[in-house]
Amino acid sequence: MLRTEQLSKSFGGTQVLKGIDINVPQKSTVVLLGASGSGKTTLLRCLNLLEMPTSGVVYLEGVSLGGSFIGDGGKWVRDSEARIAGQRSDIGFVFQRFNLFPHLTALDNVAIGPHRVRGKSRTEAREIATAALEQVHLGSHMNKRPSQLSGGQQQRVAIARSLAMGPKVILFDEPTSALDPELVNEVLDVMLDLARTGMTMVVVTHELKFAADVGSEVIFMANGLVCESGTPEELFRHPQQPETKQFLRFFN
Ligand code: ATP
Repeated sequence: MLRTEQLSKSFGGTQVLKGIDINVPQKSTVVLLGASGSGKTTLLRCLNLLEMPTSGVVYLEGVSLGGSFIGDGGKWVRDSEARIAGQRSDIGFVFQRFNLFPHLTALDNVAIGPHRVRGKSRTEAREIATAALEQVHLGSHMNKRPSQLSGGQQQRVAIARSLAMGPKVILFDEPTSALDPELVNEVLDVMLDLARTGMTMVVVTHELKFAADVGSEVIFMANGLVCESGTPEELFRHPQQPETKQFLRFFN
């Protein structure tokens, strides 16, 4: 469903991603692990073109994102901004720090995407937003502004905002790392529900229990490369690479 081929990204002279091949099957939850600076966030941002890859390609359902290779010589031709925006709207992104509009209610934060991007009427967008907020158990908080909600509730609004767009896949960038410890589980529980209902997800997290319980595959990154990957059982119980072993020792 979502895959990369030799994805690389440099900032200035520094190569942060060095040729990444990953494959995220439909309805799977792929967890990205790795030490700080290994390139997890950059990879996630390249997957939905928040960052344009320096080279390599991201494919969503077999279609290259951001452009395509044309002709015999395979020249890369960049897509129009409108087409890129359309592709990006199929890929949800949940940030570490929620990024909600502070002056809008939870309902309007969630309804704005279906209305402005998907072209739904205001009434229809609000119906979609209501259903999405109910799905993350916030039906009774829809009319509150972000400042009236806890961090865990705000993150659930952010998840509802992604869901309301009807995405093909949702990318999560350390969704619980800005939360007080007692609020982490309410967000992980919502993500667990999503995984069970068949949402395709890529999750950067340091929550190893979540990775073990929910991950279809765990990918361990080091120095801009996929160092090792496998099922949670394989990676957590029988890590092969010294970098993976050292990382897991730190958490055990
Ligand atoms: P963390 O767990 O700390 O979030 P990470 O594995 O997600 O780390 P990235 O945030 O992808 O790592 O960063 C990888 C490297 O790329 C870091 O050295 C970082 O400083 C660098 N980097 C990321 N974004 C930029 C940017 N916009 N400009 C320059 N360097 C960047």
